[in-house]
Amino acid sequence: METLREAAARLQRGEVTSAALVDGALDAIEAREGELHSFLTLLDDARAAAEDVQKRRPKDAGPLYGIPYAAKDNIVTRGVRTTAASRILEGYLPPYSATAVERLDAEGALLLGKTNLDEFAMGSSTEWSAYGPSRNPVDPSRVPGGSSGGSAVAVAAGFCHYALGSETGGSVRQPAAFCGCVGLKPSYGRVSRYGLIAFASSLDQIGTLTQDVGDAAVVLGAIAGRDPRDQTSLDAPVPDYLQEISRGAKGLRFGVPPEYLAEGVAPAVRDEVLRAADLLQAQGLERREVRLPHTSYALDAYYGIAPAEASSNLARFDGMRYGPRAQEEDLIEAYRRSRGEGFGPEVKRRILLGTFVLSAGYYDTYYLRAQKLRTLLRAEFAAAFSEVDVLLTPTTPTTAFAFGANTADPLAMYMADALTIPANLAGLCAISLPGRPADGLPVGLQLMAAPLREDVLLRAAGALEEAVR
Ligand code: GLN
Repeated sequence: METLREAAARLQRGEVTSAALVDGALDAIEAREGELHSFLTLLDDARAAAEDVQKRRPKDAGPLYGIPYAAKDNIVTRGVRTTAASRILEGYLPPYSATAVERLDAEGALLLGKTNLDEFAMGSSTEWSAYGPSRNPVDPSRVPGGSSGGSAVAVAAGFCHYALGSETGGSVRQPAAFCGCVGLKPSYGRVSRYGLIAFASSLDQIGTLTQDVGDAAVVLGAIAGRDPRDQTSLDAPVPDYLQEISRGAKGLRFGVPPEYLAEGVAPAVRDEVLRAADLLQAQGLERREVRLPHTSYALDAYYGIAPAEASSNLARFDGMRYGPRAQEEDLIEAYRRSRGEGFGPEVKRRILLGTFVLSAGYYDTYYLRAQKLRTLLRAEFAAAFSEVDVLLTPTTPTTAFAFGANTADPLAMYMADALTIPANLAGLCAISLPGRPADGLPVGLQLMAAPLREDVLLRAAGALEEAVR
């Protein structure tokens, strides 16, 4: 599939119309969506919208103008069904759009549809979607990863030029790694969370799924920046990321922390990361030793913090305004049954875990300790980033797994995010880009950089992308 920058250039030269791009997308969807199930909703007026924006195309149209994209279904879109892949949000028509969606709108971007995910973004395979899983376009017997699985599938299968996803612990990078596209998680606060249905508010961030690193730079540039409606969004200048990439990465320092190549990482994945390290050196980056000794505690910290925040965030869904409302005389009983029927098993597990770690007697042992670990991990990263500009690691310990491989064992499923979660806990920016496949399955190479250093992250990613090709 062409990149969005290539499509933009063709539109600019008048070689193609937005309607033709939408037709192309709909043909691709027609051919494979039945098998892959990447969308929960397809807009039926996308083609009319394309014709409309084409007519209004200004001379100085930006790079996103008239190009179709998809958004994960936990990002609200005005007047377009938004479910977070949960029964409890069935029938919800948001009266407003997320800031990220509004900003794309303002650039003339065309929303094609809403993509599948694990319910409320809790999961790593889309197997926890209340509306059935998506399938990996590279090998449909395998999961696409999650929770932004639908977005990764849509991009990897060529259904749209790019997609928005969301991250709490790896939900953009992990499916990007499994499907063979580029997944960018911006630093915490880089992109407004307004209109992103909250899972764990201190970790959540909207990210991008794209064909290449340059496209990630373009989309990030459009959605990043302070938003008065999200008090955690940061008031920091947004550089021209594409221009940053064109500076090259020569002279940047990088490290490969050995803790990310430890037990549990498949040999083929490890070998590909070591090869990538050699390639980065050949590109003129300087390699240094770094250690991140507390890495193995990140998963524990995450499962102390994320479910606690989720149990609080999800308390608002009571089944009264939309979703399945239980017919009960007693109000408390009505809430209880509506929530019991509206939430799926993984979401219930998280709520239970969250209320447990927050309860008297367990708070100090679990929640508080998890927060202390988080502080430690942050400090460890801060020290590492005084030595190096970026860290190179695998995105995931293994390549895409088969359906059902981890559904019976939540801990095995949680392991899929062991290498992505640290960046969320520390608020870093991080990206996954495809390395050389192993046994025909995509391998994700991860780069991480200090908070708000998307500029160096993308420069290094651009260099690595060029070298691995
Ligand atoms: N897979 C992780 C979880 O289940 C991360 C999810 C996410 O990043 N939204 O919590």
